[in-house]
Amino acid sequence: MYNADSTSKFLKGELLQQTGNPEFEHILLDSRKLNFAETSVFIPLVSNRRNAHQFIDEVYQKGVSNFIVSETPDLSKYPEANFILVKDTMQALHALVAHHRQQFQIPVIGITGSNGKTIVKEWLYQLLEKDYNIVRSPKSYNSQIGVPLSVWQMKPENDLAIFEAGISQPGEMVNLEKIIRPTIGVFTNIGEAHNEGFLNIRQKINEKLVLFMKSDVLIYCKDYLVLNECVNTFHNQVGKKEGDNSMQILSWSRKTEADIRIINIDKEENSTRIDAMFKEEPMHITIPFVDEGSIENAIHCWVVMLYLGKSQEVIQERMLGLGNIAMRLELKQGINNCSVINDSYNSDLGSLTIALDFLQQQRQHLLKTVILSDILQSGKSEASLYEEVADLLDKKGIQKLVGIGKGIGREKRVFQQLPNLKSAFYNSTEEFLQEFNPQEYNNETILVKGARVFEFERIIKLLEQKAHQTILEINLGAISHNVQQYQAILKPGTKLMGMVKAFSYGSGSYEIASQLQFMGVDYLTVAYADEGVELRRAGITLPIMVMNPEPSSFDAILQWNLEPEIYSLHVFQLFEEEVRIAGKTQYPIHLKLDTGMHRLGFEKKDIPRLIKLLMEQDYFHVKSIFSHLAASEDPFMDAFTKKQGELFTEMSGEIRKALCYPVLRHIANSAAISRHPDLQFDMVRLGIGMYGIDGNPEMQEKLQNVSTLKTTIAQVKKIPAGEPVGYGAKWKSKKPATIATVRIGYADGYPRNLGNGKGKMMLHGQLVPVAGVIAMDMLMLDVSAVPNVQEGDEVLVFGAALPLQQLATWGDTIPYEIMTGISQRVKRVYFQE
Ligand SMILES: *Cc1c(COP(=O)(O)O)cnc(C)c1O
Repeated sequence: MYNADSTSKFLKGELLQQTGNPEFEHILLDSRKLNFAETSVFIPLVSNRRNAHQFIDEVYQKGVSNFIVSETPDLSKYPEANFILVKDTMQALHALVAHHRQQFQIPVIGITGSNGKTIVKEWLYQLLEKDYNIVRSPKSYNSQIGVPLSVWQMKPENDLAIFEAGISQPGEMVNLEKIIRPTIGVFTNIGEAHNEGFLNIRQKINEKLVLFMKSDVLIYCKDYLVLNECVNTFHNQVGKKEGDNSMQILSWSRKTEADIRIINIDKEENSTRIDAMFKEEPMHITIPFVDEGSIENAIHCWVVMLYLGKSQEVIQERMLGLGNIAMRLELKQGINNCSVINDSYNSDLGSLTIALDFLQQQRQHLLKTVILSDILQSGKSEASLYEEVADLLDKKGIQKLVGIGKGIGREKRVFQQLPNLKSAFYNSTEEFLQEFNPQEYNNETILVKGARVFEFERIIKLLEQKAHQTILEINLGAISHNVQQYQAILKPGTKLMGMVKAFSYGSGSYEIASQLQFMGVDYLTVAYADEGVELRRAGITLPIMVMNPEPSSFDAILQWNLEPEIYSLHVFQLFEEEVRIAGKTQYPIHLKLDTGMHRLGFEKKDIPRLIKLLMEQDYFHVKSIFSHLAASEDPFMDAFTKKQGELFTEMSGEIRKALCYPVLRHIANSAAISRHPDLQFDMVRLGIGMYGIDGNPEMQEKLQNVSTLKTTIAQVKKIPAGEPVGYGAKWKSKKPATIATVRIGYADGYPRNLGNGKGKMMLHGQLVPVAGVIAMDMLMLDVSAVPNVQEGDEVLVFGAALPLQQLATWGDTIPYEIMTGISQRVKRVYFQE
């Protein structure tokens, strides 16, 4: 246990104020994730964009009394808190957790490398959980923030720890090494991913090897040649320093002599047998996977188990039982207008907390339900474990709990005592399934969270909506990443408006808006009032601008507190009349100026009259004045853009002079944010960029792919040369061909002009052309070049490996049109990595 007294001593911080000495056991970095106020210490981190010291007030109000800060607050405002002042809060966080790590003498497995870290970690957990009480990183917590939060979970009852570490630039691993201090090191592999930030691959490897400075053993695959060279050099250096205690190396290889020599790999339909020699003894494992990544990951785990002295029989038996790992939390559309979050792979307090945070972020339904299995986490008594779970559910506002398992059932009283929670309990998944009644689930968000043995995927099957197998996957994490890329280039103080018109460019509506609201975006914009109403109904509280306020929607605008764009004197008068009748004053509006786009907006000649109207009345409060750029992405039009900017400055200046209160100005869309930073004014309107596309190549580099459209093969057939395919019977193959019919057509939004080979899709990593014309619900692909095509195979329509821009080019259109055209019958799946 830690308290302000002892912590300030080993952090060498200054105890600015001490009013008591309560102990803390939770580290709080994000004020939105506060669960246990009394036992938390708040450590506000400072980055270029965000200074979390501004949230001290909020968390103090919620009952936190321990703080580690790098800026002295106004202590008189917080009479009941302890403040430790340090130079740098990130360093203090690292030092605090490094100190915590020093309290434990148990084996600690540290994993780094380019790919497979999380899978190797989770598989080692699956393979070893019977023998040890294991603490491990939740999800992919491997960053400068994720690692301390992971290692902080170490408790006296643990006898094995497994942590992963990832870095994005030189100098970071030293910190993580001190925190993890692995005794057993695993270097998974080295790829080209995340090369940015590093001079070259050697620098990246050497930086990662720093994690193993003090390890007893290092496990790696020799077949990565540069990695092998770097490990040898590293081993010599570390060896010299440490004398006799030098690190042991355990290498494996498919090609040359190594400690574990892989001699044969034999793939069956659904499993792979791997044969090896270790200490001159033959041995083998069989795993229920056939892909190369899984084979490599399994061999890493195998070597760890050999090092830990596990017997052949144990290794063989457990390898057979390896399971899939959910790398991400997914939100899917479910039955009866429910949304379902599938986290049916593990259950422990750490991952439950993460899943509940994700659930809380989703605002679409007021009712939130959790279906929860026994928590499989030893160390705590059952009573105190479920007390903590009950407390969590209560704090997160969960109204319904379905508990499945004997353990949670024994403690049902702690849940039944909660006044706002309805609960039901079942002894087993089987029992729940027998009594399952779909009518009991309506308009709610359901988190399904259970340990693997409970097989909750059977529950997921019942709750998820059945739909044809073409899905649009939306990576909510990538949206956050992209927004942050733009925030990073905004001038200080510039606000950000998220464009969520047209179902958020086809990506969804409240799902995206919830994410943006959670991220602290300042404004949202929709095209039509009904889109805004839907967001309000889903619990979005941010201000929402409506770009096309039709008179027929004025009352909805007022009722739901939406803010119209006023673009002409006529609309001004119509809306003013409506506000007057409603008996309101100072209603928020936005003035749109036409500076050259010639779509909507006041022209220069209207300004004097507009000012006069504004001065004469008290019905409106002008929140912002804005205009739209016609060609901000085009270098050849920069002079035109500059002129638009000048005209905007002039016109908006006149209006601002006349109004005696502050008004925001904005003109920049996505491409303008990076290309015309001088036009950022007080706010920018981010649209397509947040969905991963920017006309500026420099900006495009920094963005992550958000949307992935996938479909599946319904049938495969072989046709002789010269046979026609599809409507019109015009397309013919010169050679005998293999034709695959996929479940997507123009009614799903796949452009019809991509027929006859203009469009291509990706199957097993290879591009395959469209054969014949595109039908309403289906189309055919010529897959002759791809071996082994099966019914049910997944086909990528667009995504990271086949960018939407490429489709747009093939189809002579722009990404906007394809994105917004994906029809609503295509099921959306939201996830966060
Ligand atoms: C759609 C829209 C935007 C966003 O444009 P992007 O190019 O997608 O960033 C900005 N402002 C207005 C007025 C818009 O209609």
